[in-house]
Amino acid sequence: MSLTNQISLSDRISGSFFGLLLCDSLGTAVECQVTGSFEPVTTLRGGGKYRLKPGQFTDDGSMALCLAIALLNHNNNDPQTLHPSTVQMNLYRRWYESGYLSSNGLCFDIGITVRTALNKFSTEYDRTDGQKFLNADAYYGSTKSKASGNGSLMRLAPVPLLYHRNPQYALDEAVNSSKTTHGSQLCLDSCRIYAALIIGALQGASKEKLLKSEKMFVPEGLPSDYWTNETASPIDPSVMTVMTGSYKHRNPPEIKASGFVVDAMEAALWAFYHTDSFEEGALKAVNLGDDADTVGAIYGMLAGAYYGINAIPLEWLEKCSFQGLVQTIIDEILIQSQQSDMSSSSGVYKKVLQVYNDLATFYSGTIKRRVLPCPKQYKTSQQFDEDIAQFQTIYDNMLQSTEWFEDVSTDNDKQLISNRSELILKEFLSLIEQDRQTLSIQYSRSFGPFSDSQH
Ligand SMILES: [Mg+2]
Repeated sequence: MSLTNQISLSDRISGSFFGLLLCDSLGTAVECQVTGSFEPVTTLRGGGKYRLKPGQFTDDGSMALCLAIALLNHNNNDPQTLHPSTVQMNLYRRWYESGYLSSNGLCFDIGITVRTALNKFSTEYDRTDGQKFLNADAYYGSTKSKASGNGSLMRLAPVPLLYHRNPQYALDEAVNSSKTTHGSQLCLDSCRIYAALIIGALQGASKEKLLKSEKMFVPEGLPSDYWTNETASPIDPSVMTVMTGSYKHRNPPEIKASGFVVDAMEAALWAFYHTDSFEEGALKAVNLGDDADTVGAIYGMLAGAYYGINAIPLEWLEKCSFQGLVQTIIDEILIQSQQSDMSSSSGVYKKVLQVYNDLATFYSGTIKRRVLPCPKQYKTSQQFDEDIAQFQTIYDNMLQSTEWFEDVSTDNDKQLISNRSELILKEFLSLIEQDRQTLSIQYSRSFGPFSDSQH
């Protein structure tokens, strides 16, 4: 038995999700830089264009978390069920407008294709007060081939992770998840083929089998002629070229970490094929520079499923932003992926998500908003401190209320909820601490010529 066969499904699912988030974070250090022009990335170091801290992820990670929550919540038996694509778009919109599931509390980067789709969706949603979407999809992705960015592939992992037991459904949903923001044939093909590879990795397929050149990989549970039989829609030739092994003989500058979906997928597979460990491949992927964070994310979701969570350096995992929430989402993906009807959320997931949602709402709606330049910006540090106290009270009221744990069955679950909620609280408090530093600069400026810098 090969080593990869001994990795549990749970370790593969965790590996894939953390792999996506952490390789996104790894790559942002050199995002938009020309290959060879920078000090090579050797570990999670933060910085880069957006001056992030090590372990903070960018739009790739935030959108993947939005997608995961949309899929998990949609599966609940809710009579007012919206189409899954609408649930997704509502969460992407919340990220775009108020930094929901962002690692630093703001939507600080967004692709043009995503932004265009979200703007169209928001206009329609508001115009019809949401009524239009009760029984309709929200596929707002451009279908033009020139709009074939990598923005739907970069967040894809939750789809195969959740639906891997039904590969046909998983591949259909991979396509549907892309259509919300990226509707071109190249994007849809890339997403369904990459979902098949992730499912294969979850099933324990060897790298040799996944990356076989003669025939595109088909996961167990689908007919072996899946990609070539007449009923499946034909794959675009440029995607086919990659999937039959172009990355095996090409090298940079032919391999490009660009924003074009086919290039980004080829670059991720190039890094995966030419290395033998998660870390080595991750560094190879992001050191291409350019769209390094996204090539990292695409690499990380496949390599993490293949090598498993234990292959990801512990010092990287420990730095992952919002890891209490992330781990809860991953656990819930594992639970729901094993239910036949995927109909119920666990108590731990519901509670921890509620803690995150309530804190995120107050943080973005009150604290963060008033830190940024706006008419109601904080004028005194006392106002700021009052809001922090209120923020803390929201948390205390939830966790200390007698009803809070009533429907949680085991002590172990109660402990998990407490631990993870506390991690989420700490994460927000550390963001607030950074906000305070931003504010203090503004206070000192208001002292005019006798500012700190002159002493
Ligand atoms: Mg990014």
